[in-house]
Amino acid sequence: MNEPTVEAIHRVLAEIRHPDDEKSVIERGMVSGIVVKGKNVGFALEVPAADAQRLETLRRACEDAVKAMAGVSSCTVVLTAERGPPPEIQARRQQQGQQGQQGQAAPPGVPGIAAIIAVASGKGGVGKSTTAINLACGLRALGLRTGILDADIYGPSLPRMAGLSGRPTTADGKKMQPLEVAGVKVMSMGFLVDEETPMIWRGPMVQSALTQMLNDVAWGELDVLVVDMPPGTGDAQLTMAQKVPLAGAVIVSTPQDIALLDARKAINMFRRVDVPIMGIVENMSYFACPNCGQRTEIFAHGGAKTCADTYNVDFLAEIPLDIAIRETSDGGQPIVVSRPDTPQAAAYMDLARTIRDKLRGPSAAKAFPKIVYA
Ligand code: ADP
Repeated sequence: MNEPTVEAIHRVLAEIRHPDDEKSVIERGMVSGIVVKGKNVGFALEVPAADAQRLETLRRACEDAVKAMAGVSSCTVVLTAERGPPPEIQARRQQQGQQGQQGQAAPPGVPGIAAIIAVASGKGGVGKSTTAINLACGLRALGLRTGILDADIYGPSLPRMAGLSGRPTTADGKKMQPLEVAGVKVMSMGFLVDEETPMIWRGPMVQSALTQMLNDVAWGELDVLVVDMPPGTGDAQLTMAQKVPLAGAVIVSTPQDIALLDARKAINMFRRVDVPIMGIVENMSYFACPNCGQRTEIFAHGGAKTCADTYNVDFLAEIPLDIAIRETSDGGQPIVVSRPDTPQAAAYMDLARTIRDKLRGPSAAKAFPKIVYA
């Protein structure tokens, strides 16, 4: 028996009606973070915090309906508290036309954070997290108050890459204190979710953890928050792209055709939810031999530039395949901080400058409209 597909689960849930208005939980956009692991399914059902008790029956109905599907042996549904803006603000946003191509209202901004940008990739292992942490450190080095949020549910690697461990503390019992590396505030799934916890629990938890990490972390005033997205273009990624008020997305790809195919999917995913693409970074672009200095294009070269041209997005940077980048990244010492005078660090600094300028530029103002709370 094959694994149930997310689409099949959607179809089943489209039959489960909310008691208040007979709209289905899918129509109401309540379902997020569907995770399928063999015969086990898990997802979150977003409800207003005050309704959690009343909607327990709805939660159970969703669980039972999915459990009854062929190929499913267990289903876990968790209720997570919705944190949308008040209805009058939602209505005003809709009047202002801040809607994505799918018709959803833009998610609310996070107080104190001027801009949130996603670093994303169509698939894992292309150097997304390495790029994200070096970009964040680069932005900090340029004087921007910067944070980085590791939302990579499949393998939170920022604690390792930033050389951080331990659980965040809380001074007031409400807001978590982020950890810090080189002046960059860091929050990661890896600080909150036990690595041994099976994925089936992690998927739904992640949706609420992401909202919590955005809103319940003492970020303070930030000019920019870099979000290291989970790799891929599935349901979890799409939900995150929708839920986080993103000023833009940076797509990381390696030059091979196969990786670029996934990068295109990532571009399309962000476009679907109306998030501006800031551009593409080609990582592992070429190998510069540390001994003879010769440049070898191991994975071919220039594919990301062509992809950027085709999709009419900016080509942001080419980062070499380099042993020092790997060693510093995996050793918890981002190269921008630990070896700032190297050409590799300079490549990330150029990227950081481009992103800073884009955030200051007119397109950023358009992408991140100021919301006036009357
Ligand atoms: P992702 O976030 O896309 O899964 P990572 O940033 O975790 O990718 O990188 C995967 C591996 O590749 C890590 O071991 C990292 O150190 C290494 N790596 C990333 N970028 C480079 C690069 N430009 N040169 C050499 N190694 C790199």
